[in-house]
Amino acid sequence: MDIKITKTDCPSPKPDSSTLEFGKTFTDHMFIMDYSSDLGWHDARIVPFANISLHPASTVLHYGSEIFEGLKAYRRADGKVQLFRPIENIRRMNNSAERLCLPQIPEEDALYILDTFVGLEQDWTPSAEGTSLYLRPFMFGNDESLGVHAVHNATFMIIASPVGSYYKEGINPVKIMIESEDVRAVRGGTGYAKCGGNYAASNRAGEKAEKKGYSQVLWLDGVERKYIEEVGAMNVMFKIDGKIVTPKLTGSILPGITRKSCIEVLKSEGYTVEERLLSVDELFSALESGKLEEAWGCGTAAVVSPIGELMLNDKKYTINNGEIGKVTHHLYDILTGIQWGRLEDTFGWTYPIK
Ligand SMILES: *Cc1c(COP(=O)(O)O)cnc(C)c1O
Repeated sequence: MDIKITKTDCPSPKPDSSTLEFGKTFTDHMFIMDYSSDLGWHDARIVPFANISLHPASTVLHYGSEIFEGLKAYRRADGKVQLFRPIENIRRMNNSAERLCLPQIPEEDALYILDTFVGLEQDWTPSAEGTSLYLRPFMFGNDESLGVHAVHNATFMIIASPVGSYYKEGINPVKIMIESEDVRAVRGGTGYAKCGGNYAASNRAGEKAEKKGYSQVLWLDGVERKYIEEVGAMNVMFKIDGKIVTPKLTGSILPGITRKSCIEVLKSEGYTVEERLLSVDELFSALESGKLEEAWGCGTAAVVSPIGELMLNDKKYTINNGEIGKVTHHLYDILTGIQWGRLEDTFGWTYPIK
């Protein structure tokens, strides 16, 4: 595949990484590629970062056909930049595309695109502790018509944003509200796809939680509102009576790459990891009997995020005295160690950029 590169005439100065706010600063260039059912994917190009123009009837503006990915480029101590399991993001994007009837991108082309784009923008990867270059691939349906059907035209883009450390003040446990009214997704729906629509449906509960002083929502299953699903933009894990328990991928949960990596690390170290249904009742009886030892969220942004307090129907429950647990801390050290190249990558998860 051929990528036409047009470089900017006026490169921006690199920001000071201590002042970065998530997703507000963007690099000098962006990747774009068009799809039509006649031509397939075509016109792959890297161009100066700029606004894009859309037909007012463009599918994405009316029917929400949009999917995205999120991954990071990390700067190692030797100055090289590397990605973490990019092939997993590419496979998940193609699964999301299949669910939303958007076109898939062959894995080797998608990897070549990422490699070329990050190669061009790698100087934007900050080097301070905990910082990275966040990559946001996304795809949207772009027919110029109000008819409702699977699209004939689509656009795929990648933008990149240098991001500061998620934990500037140390890894502080978060307070999470269990949402018992709104649901994020249902089996048979789009819960397992990383699509914008899932987020649009989540915002109301997120706002409610924020007003009560909680940072994120813990979703329950959409049918019985009984089983734990996931937290905001993170999967969730618990240590109950020595075992690790995480909700199984039923179709309404996003299959996180951090989740998968945590499970693989834990299993390699001999932990018992159960991927199964976990009801709120079971969780609270574990809390009351003192068997709930740790709880944490896991996702690319925070890696792991300890949960110090859960609220259900205005009742509050503290976990592990509101402190980060041992397993949570250990997972953080292992995953960030591999991502930033401080630890040897015995799993073969890192992908260096040339
Ligand atoms: C992206 C995302 C996650 C985390 O996935 P990672 O691949 O670990 O970053 C979890 N839940 C939702 C809803 C997400 O969108």
